[in-house]
Amino acid sequence: MHYNRLGRAGLQVSALSLGSWVTYHNQVDVDAAVELMAAAFDAGVNFFDNAEVYAKGQSEVVMGEALKRLGWPRLNYIVSTKFFWGLERDGNTVNRKDTLNRKYLMQAMDGSLKRFGLDFIDLIYCHRPDPHTPIEETVWAMHNLIEQGKALYWGTSEWPAADIRAAYEIAERHHLHKPLMEQPQYHLLHRSRVEQEYARLYEEIGLGLTTWSPLASGLLTGKYREGVPAGSRGAMENMAFLRDGLLDAQRNAAVAQLLPIAAELGGSVAQLAIAWLTMNPRVSTVILGASKRTQLDENLGALALRDKLTPEVMARIDAITKPLAA
Ligand code: NDP
Repeated sequence: MHYNRLGRAGLQVSALSLGSWVTYHNQVDVDAAVELMAAAFDAGVNFFDNAEVYAKGQSEVVMGEALKRLGWPRLNYIVSTKFFWGLERDGNTVNRKDTLNRKYLMQAMDGSLKRFGLDFIDLIYCHRPDPHTPIEETVWAMHNLIEQGKALYWGTSEWPAADIRAAYEIAERHHLHKPLMEQPQYHLLHRSRVEQEYARLYEEIGLGLTTWSPLASGLLTGKYREGVPAGSRGAMENMAFLRDGLLDAQRNAAVAQLLPIAAELGGSVAQLAIAWLTMNPRVSTVILGASKRTQLDENLGALALRDKLTPEVMARIDAITKPLAA
């Protein structure tokens, strides 16, 4: 494993990290989380990603319980959570749903700490932009959470570049903690935000990236070429919104063209797709997802392919995937 600075910060994150969306609580219970996290940690992973909204708070409960059982020194791992959608959908949600207002953020933070059973969370994110709350209000709230010792660094997820820069400038003007990292979707078939929209932010504000869905929810393993396999994410009822994308004929044809390249390199398409992400120096860490130990082991093995991704191989991969990439 190698480690990268998280943007301009001194903090170093493992090139591959492990997330809990969809999996924790639904496919992965505490025992399985302990097994997955231990395997990742043994391979050098030091960052575990989470969010308030994942499994309605239960993903934080599972990860917190797993961390308790694993008993690692607190300095040896980094955990995150994210706020925006709110937890409960019943009752009066006017101030606690789809928002980044100060009241919600302050109370959401306390809820996450309680579910995790931790004194602080290393990385907290604004999970989406909220066009109805002044960015200044959100920046002050994130700054105050850090000043209160409840979090160490803050960032954004899927914010437009202009909003990230606005937040940075507000923080700089008032000498507040600035946004450090963004969490965007980034994989072979989804590239423009990371490669175009954010291009100026890396040097100009030292933005770090913790990227999500490296395998496009499993599409980039090749397992959706013949339809939706039983037991996969695409077969889950509440993931129906992903199905058209997972079954897309053109995208699956591109994956089929990657198969022989992966085989030439002595790896799988999933490993090729993950190794490709780690070649972008702007990416601080690639957040992996896995519902099973075998998947995690395969995905962690991606780093072995890096040396084989010569400019010539990278050009072949680009020729197949870039025309289809969003
Ligand atoms: P991927 O795109 O890698 O999808 C992971 C899923 O693909 C697994 O759960 C598994 O699903 C399948 N899979 C993974 N590896 C293999 C393999 N080797 N062989 C076969 N199937 C495989 O990542 P995620 O979409 O899970 O995203 C990773 C993390 O990023 C999340 O856990 C979360 O922490 C973060 N994230 C952040 C978002 C944000 O808005 N900030 C949004 C989404 C994710 P199955 O077995 O069920 O088919």
